[in-house]
Amino acid sequence: MQRDLKLLLELQEIDEQLAELESSKVYLPDMIDNLEREVSGCKQEVEDLEQGLVSLEREKKRLELEIDVNQEELQRSRKRMREIKTNKEYDALTAQISHVKEKISENEEALIQVLEQQEVTGEQLKEVQEKCGGMEKSHLSQLVGLRKELDSIEDKIKSRQTQRQNVASHVSRRVMSTYERVRRGKRGAAVVMIKKRSCGGCFKQVPPQRIQEMKKGDRIYACDNCGRILVWSEEEQ
Ligand SMILES: [Zn+2]
Repeated sequence: MQRDLKLLLELQEIDEQLAELESSKVYLPDMIDNLEREVSGCKQEVEDLEQGLVSLEREKKRLELEIDVNQEELQRSRKRMREIKTNKEYDALTAQISHVKEKISENEEALIQVLEQQEVTGEQLKEVQEKCGGMEKSHLSQLVGLRKELDSIEDKIKSRQTQRQNVASHVSRRVMSTYERVRRGKRGAAVVMIKKRSCGGCFKQVPPQRIQEMKKGDRIYACDNCGRILVWSEEEQ
């Protein structure tokens, strides 16, 4: 194979690695962000449930206290019932007693709901804690790897660029400018192998005459159809 072509293939591989490194400068921070967000979201979920349990406990205490106060009030009223003299007093006290009883039963119902809610929230908390624990462990180790990779990108790019300059310095100026022109115009490979006597980029047949010329290897040929630089491989007979 012609020396320039061999160098161009090397150059192309380096350019592909450089493009991959450039895109990882975008997608690595995205991946890191997503993982961090998932971890903090899970922590927030745990915190919210814990906060919920604290409020439920406070509400439970409040209801229990109120029920106690009402019970004492009820007992006092019942005692007073024995000392009542008039019908008017009797009616007033009866109304008061039934009012207190109502309050007690309302509070007892509310208390039952709070107890049920405590149980449900407690179960949820356990589930979420388990989920978060497992997730955090795997995410944190992934994050360490991703941050390390991100930190090393600039160094990798620099070293590939040095490598690129070194290879490019051995390619003739004319060939180099053809390569750069095709590369800018084409997404993907600018230099392609001939496969089954066709261009490896657009699959258009290469005329036999052209292949004969290429075998001599005295100049560089581009595909008539797509303009990519064609490489004749020895395996292709
Ligand atoms: Zn082509």
